[in-house]
Amino acid sequence: MTTIKENLTAIREKIIKTAVSCGRNPDDIQLVGVSKKKPVQQMQQALDAGLHNLGENYIQEAVEKIDHLGRESACWHFIGHLQSNKARFAVRYFDFIHTVDKLKLAREIDKQAKKIQKRQKILLQVNIAGEETKSGATRDRAVALAKEIMGFENLELSGLMCMPPYFDDPEDARIYFKQLVRIRQDVLASGVDDGAMAELSMGMSHDFEVAIQEGATMVRVGTAIFGSRT
Ligand SMILES: *Cc1c(COP(=O)(O)O)cnc(C)c1O
Repeated sequence: MTTIKENLTAIREKIIKTAVSCGRNPDDIQLVGVSKKKPVQQMQQALDAGLHNLGENYIQEAVEKIDHLGRESACWHFIGHLQSNKARFAVRYFDFIHTVDKLKLAREIDKQAKKIQKRQKILLQVNIAGEETKSGATRDRAVALAKEIMGFENLELSGLMCMPPYFDDPEDARIYFKQLVRIRQDVLASGVDDGAMAELSMGMSHDFEVAIQEGATMVRVGTAIFGSRT
C-alpha cells in the first residue's frame, strides 16, 4: 500500500509530465483531490502533503468534514449533484460549485449568495454523452444556459465541467473532452467573455492525463489519491 503522500507525488509528476509533453504550463492545471466517503484524517494527510483543493459530493457529509478541518484549510469544490434546497449550504461552504446544470439551481445559488454578499464561483456541468443517469445540461442547452447565468449578479461563471462515461481505455474518453472544448468555443462565440470560460473541469483518476492533453485546467482525482472507496 502506498501512502497518500506518495500517491500525490506520483500524480503531480504525471500532471507535470503530461502538461510539458503537450506544451502546456503545469501551473495551469489544478489538482482537486476528491475525498467523498473518506475520513477527515486522510484529508488532513493530503493537506499536510501540500494538496490545496478538495472536492466533495454530498452536502451533509461535506459540511461535517469542513467544520472539522476548517473552512480556510483548503479551497473547497462541490462536485456532486446539488439540489436547490441545499444551495444555502453549498454557498456557505464551497469556493467552487462545479455542477450547475439548470436555471432554477443557478437562480437559487444566486439568491443564497446574495444573502451573504458573496460572488459564488460556479461551473456549468454538461452531460457530455447525453447519459440518462447523469446530470448536466444537454449540449444543445449549454450555450443558452451560460448566457443566462451571466445575468446573475452573485454568480461568477468560471467554466465548464463534464464527466464522460467510464471506459476501460481512457483514450475512449478523449472525444468527450474534445466536445467540451468545442462547447466552450461555442459559448465564447456567443459573446460570453473569456474569464467566464477559463476553467475546464474534466478528468478523473483513470483518465486525467487524456483530459490534460485536451485542455483540462482542473482534474478531479479521488481513488488515485485516497484509494478505492468500496
Ligand atoms: C467521485 C468523483 C470523482 C473522482 O473519481 P475517481 O475515479 O475516484 O478519481 C471525480 N468527479 C466526480 C464528479 C466524482 O463524483
